[in-house]
Amino acid sequence: MSWGIMRPALFPAFTYGDAPVNVYWEMTLACGLSCRHCRADAIPSRDPLELSTDEGKQLMRDIKEMGSHLILTGGDPLERADLWELIEYGRSIGLPIAITPAVTAKLTQEMMQRFKAVGVATVGMSLDGPNAELHDGFRQVPGTFDMSMRALGWAREAGMPVQINTTVTRETIRRVPEIFELLKTKASPPVRRWALFILIPVGRGLMLGSPSAQEIEDLFGWVYETAKQAPFHVSTVEAPQYRRFWLQKKLSEGTSLEEIERRGRMMGFGIRDGSGIVFVSHRGEVYPAGFLPHPLLGSIREKPLPEIYRTAPAAVKLRAMDELHGRCGECEYRWICGGSRARAYAATGDAMGSDPLCVYQPSP
Ligand code: SF4
Repeated sequence: MSWGIMRPALFPAFTYGDAPVNVYWEMTLACGLSCRHCRADAIPSRDPLELSTDEGKQLMRDIKEMGSHLILTGGDPLERADLWELIEYGRSIGLPIAITPAVTAKLTQEMMQRFKAVGVATVGMSLDGPNAELHDGFRQVPGTFDMSMRALGWAREAGMPVQINTTVTRETIRRVPEIFELLKTKASPPVRRWALFILIPVGRGLMLGSPSAQEIEDLFGWVYETAKQAPFHVSTVEAPQYRRFWLQKKLSEGTSLEEIERRGRMMGFGIRDGSGIVFVSHRGEVYPAGFLPHPLLGSIREKPLPEIYRTAPAAVKLRAMDELHGRCGECEYRWICGGSRARAYAATGDAMGSDPLCVYQPSP
């Protein structure tokens, strides 16, 4: 069966031209850590040109109007003195909020309880190795592995759901099964989701090596089997080609179209940089994603976010899968996958080019 039919006309839920599912707001660049893969090139102190509290509240109203979720990120959101005022405001207008604090001495047990009390949906935390040596080496601050394990314990006690983010590089890819074993035995609950983030070489991540396309394909096979028995949801980030892998598997297993559509909706088919995802920088600049700092779509200091997301020509183009170049442009899976636009840009300078970390060869 040709999956060229998997177009928006058949599965309208897989298009995101009207509103993103997730808006990532980089509240500040300030952060006490200096992780080796940092997208933001975080700095120790706050930028005086950060969005103000009032600008942040306007942004929250705009995100609520679109029906999207807000993810507070940084740098470290805990560096903002108005963090609680903003979270409480967002929750008062019914905005779903998640947060990714840096694990430093600023993250306390009381804070974890307060996240739960104000209705934060998820706390995101990083785990880039199965032990202190590997994780702390990545974070470049000794003691962060132990602090992360302690924070997971606080989350468990508070009943606060956690998403664990693991950056997959050439160095860490072989340790992924060990990280899974650690999470399974020590962190379930509170871990609800484990996101395997396939490195995009930008920011400090430029210094780290990417795995090969075949290594990523092999990882997909491991994820497919592991997800069946994991006590939490296992997902990939900046690797939409996992959807192609998953769909090929399901078709070979005879799964029905209805089931594929149902599961595809849950897996975020069609979501990628600039399509279902948008990023607002600490100064209010809007980009397709945190890892795709190009092109600039606009500034919320000049136009509301919904207008920028829906109408910026560069955003509309990023969602036009028939305008992709190279292998991704010829691929029958492009409507559900489309490749990582961030990786295509990092590798080729063309955000509409091919994602180099995919083994699939479309038939002519
Ligand atoms: S060729 Fe591109 S669109 Fe097709 S599955 Fe691979 S990454 Fe996705």
